[in-house]
Formats: sequence, structure tokens, C-alpha cells
Amino acid sequence: MDTVTRPRILVVGAGFAGVECVRRLERKLAPDEADVTLVTPVSYQLYLPLLPQVASGVLTPQSIALSLRRSRRYRTRILPGGAIGVDLKAKVCVVRTITDKIVNEPYDYIVLAPGSVTRTFDIPGLTEHAFGMKTLAEAAYIRDHVISQLDLADASDDPAERAARLQFVVVGGGYAGTETAACLQRLTHAAVRRYPRLDPGLIRWHLIDIAPKLMPELGEKLGRSAQEILRRRGIDVSLGVSIEKAGAEEVTFTDGRVVPTHTLIWTAGVVASPLIATLGAETVRGRLAVDPELTVPGQDGVFALGDSAAVPDLAKGQEGAICPPTAQHASRQGKRVAENVIATLRGEPLQPYRHKDLGLVVDLGGKDAVSKPLGIELRGMAAQAVARGYHWSALRTGVAKARVMTNWTLNALAGDDFVRTGFQARKPARLKDFEFTDSYLTPEQVRARAEGGVNSP
Ligand SMILES: Cc1cc2nc3c(=O)[nH]c(=O)nc-3n(C[C@H](O)[C@H](O)[C@H](O)COP(=O)(O)OP(=O)(O)OC[C@H]3O[C@@H](n4cnc5c(N)ncnc54)[C@H](O)[C@@H]3O)c2cc1C
Repeated sequence: MDTVTRPRILVVGAGFAGVECVRRLERKLAPDEADVTLVTPVSYQLYLPLLPQVASGVLTPQSIALSLRRSRRYRTRILPGGAIGVDLKAKVCVVRTITDKIVNEPYDYIVLAPGSVTRTFDIPGLTEHAFGMKTLAEAAYIRDHVISQLDLADASDDPAERAARLQFVVVGGGYAGTETAACLQRLTHAAVRRYPRLDPGLIRWHLIDIAPKLMPELGEKLGRSAQEILRRRGIDVSLGVSIEKAGAEEVTFTDGRVVPTHTLIWTAGVVASPLIATLGAETVRGRLAVDPELTVPGQDGVFALGDSAAVPDLAKGQEGAICPPTAQHASRQGKRVAENVIATLRGEPLQPYRHKDLGLVVDLGGKDAVSKPLGIELRGMAAQAVARGYHWSALRTGVAKARVMTNWTLNALAGDDFVRTGFQARKPARLKDFEFTDSYLTPEQVRARAEGGVNSP
């Protein structure tokens, strides 16, 4: 048995940030330099930017779930569960395992990368009736749900029910919401040809946002192009508008319109994982405050990054600017954090994180896309080639690359089968069911559990 005590590095979260960090630690640390543990509720890294393509059936769910076990080095211990609290003083992370056991995981260095959850507001009916677009289960569920609306509309003789089932509302004009509305509209547009009893004119997609512009990062001209593409495709874009209330069969907009619908998809931004609130540490708009070296000021051995941390954006050169919550930043911060953890272990100086944004790619399905790589504005096929080329090259494993490319090719050549799997048909599956936001401890509960000793019941 191995009795040598090495420094314990605990990484929380296996997303863009956590996985890049772990991979670099595995590559750079000598085997006897430290032990690495990764806490993660699932055994894959989700390639979130391609999630709308899973919802619309262009990609299979498995193709964007990158296995954590497919690594050339198997030195990281994977702890299957979610961190529900961290006591920074006692250096203990409290974990709820996937079998619902609560265990204390002591560490010497902790890397916090639990990402974000969907941001909701106090809107009546929202969490009960809206779907999110943040997990693989949600994307698979939404696909089933949208196809089932076509099936149910087709089977109904009630004109009001038909009309309601064929209206769809997406809230959030960022890239997640815009891509979701565009890709799903394409799905329903193609599917309706297989339903001869349905009038294609009844299908209506609404994309709404309280902001005055869609995806302001695109700039004036490209933003207008994106809006034009959506309008041409029949998506009703309403800006300066949000939801007043949501019900099972209708949604009321803040401009007074009442839309009969069974489908409300909510993608209006993200907030840091609720894990951050359990630390009792300083936050900036809910994200954990860190310094440019990605360490938490005043705390020994604590690093944070990705969507859950407010990382100063040094490349912007503006006082107080923080990095936007994007995969582009999270994965690069993962590498920097690993280097800084190693530097700490070796007593070397830490380096600050700096990255100049490479731009934005927005895949609207089919030949439609807008992209702004390195400030160059692209539309149509050129933009689509850049968008898909970028995502394809960013996929971490060769197997994932092969799966995604095969799916894209098959979809382009043979189209969709519009199969509704029915797996989730009897489970409630709205915003409140998927992201487990109510399973976290309060800072007091964390302290009590950490003080109670390792793995106390
Ligand atoms: C639909 C959609 C489209 C997007 N498109 C783009 C895009 O085109 N370009 C771009 O740059 N960005 C895009 N983003 C944003 C990007 O995906 C995020 O910024 C990025 O995933 C953040 O990385 P992260 O590692 O911080 O978090 P994540 O990648 O979300 O990873 C967090 C991980 O932590 C795990 N976790 C959560 N809570 C706990 C816990 N308590 N304990 C342990 N583990 C936990 C989660 O299961 C997850 O595996 C998109 C996001 C969405 C939702």
C-alpha cells in the first residue's frame, strides 16, 4: 500500500476549465509530486457550444460528451459527485456522491471550476414551466418535447390546441438563445413536411430579449445580419421584451401579448454555481473574486476560474473589467491555473492570466451563420465554415472529432429522422429539475460538517 503523503490537489468541476487544468497537471507533475482528485457529477466533459445542435438532432448527445476516462495518463482519481460546500479554513470540501452519501474531502490545494447555472428571475411560473439549455439531459429532453408537440398537434382536431402546440418561445438573445431558436426552428421547418395534416404556416418561433440588441458582441452590422437571417426564416424577434408570467399553456410577454404555447425555453444568462456562495468569500456579481493569478485573495491554496470566477481581463486594459463567461476563456484559464498550482508547489513565482478574445462564432443551422474571428466580419458559408472549423478543432479527443464530423455529414446528406425517444416522457423536466441548485449547504452547515471530522455522517 502507498503510505507516502503527497500534497493533495482537488479540482472541482470537469468542464472546460477543470478538464484543461487536470490534463495539464497530469502532463507536467512528476508522479510523486502531488495527488490529483477531480470531483464531478458526470463522467464526461460537455462541449456546451454544440448543445443547440443536440437539441435540434444534428448531433447525437454522445458526440459532445467527451469521456474523462479517455486519457493517456490515468493518474487522476475521479470522485463521482458534486461539491456542496467548501470550508476554506479547515481545507475540507463536502461532497455529495452520486449515491447520495455525504463525504468530507480534505485537500491542500483546491481549484474551483464548477461553472455556472441558468440565471432565473422572480417571474411567476418560470421555474415550473420553462426549459433550460445548459445540460445534455435538457437538450435531449427539449428535442423530444419539440417533436412531441408536432405529433400532438397532428393528432388533435382542436384548432386552438394545434395552434398552441406549434408556437415556441425562446427567451435570451445571446448566442445560446439565438442558436437554440435558429436550430430548433430549422428542425420544425424540416419536420413539418412529414406531417401532411399540419399547416406549416401555424409554426411560429418567438425569440425575445429585454436588451435592445441581439448578441451585442457582434457589433452593429453583423448583429443586424443575424437578425435579418432569423426574420427571413420566420422567427419573430422581439427586443426590449421579457416574460411577465409563464403557465403550462401560455406565456405572457411584458408588452402585454399572451402567446398560447407549451414550449418556453429560457436562456437569459448564467450565474456562478451556488457552490461559490457556500465559501463566504468576496464575490463580484456572484462570481468569486480572484486576482490575475487566479488565486483567491487572503486564502491559502485556493484557485478559481471559468464561469464561477470573476477573473480580471488584463487584455482589455480597462479598470475593473472581468473576463466574460466563455469556453474560450475557461479553457485557457485552466492551463494557467495548472501552471500556477505547480509553481506554488515548487515555490516559483505565479504568472497572471491574460488572453485577447479571439471573437465569436454563431451557427444558425444549415448554411446560415455569422462569425467575427479576430474582428473580421463573416456571413453565410464562410462564417459557417469558420464556426464549425473552430468547434471541431476545439473538441478535445479524436473520437469526439470523428463522431461530430460523421454526424454533420450524415445530417447534411440524409437529413433528420425526427425520432422522439420517449425516454423522459413521464418525468417532470423543467428548469428546476435539472441543475440541482437546491442541494447546496449554507456556510454554517459547511463549517459544522467540516469540524465534525472526515466523513462524519
Ligand atoms: C448553449 C450554450 C452555448 C455556448 N456557446 C459558446 C460559444 O460558442 N463559445 C464560447 O466560448 N462559450 C460558449 N458558451 C459558454 C461556455 O460553454 C462556458 O463559458 C464554459 O462552459 C465555462 O466553462 P467552465 O469550465 O467554467 O464551466 P462548465 O463547462 O459549465 O463546467 C462546469 C463543470 O462543473 C460541474 N459542476 C457543477 N457544479 C458542480 C459541483 N457542485 N461539484 C462538482 N462539479 C460541478 C458541471 O457538471 C460541469 O461539468 C456556451 C454556453 C451554452 C450554455
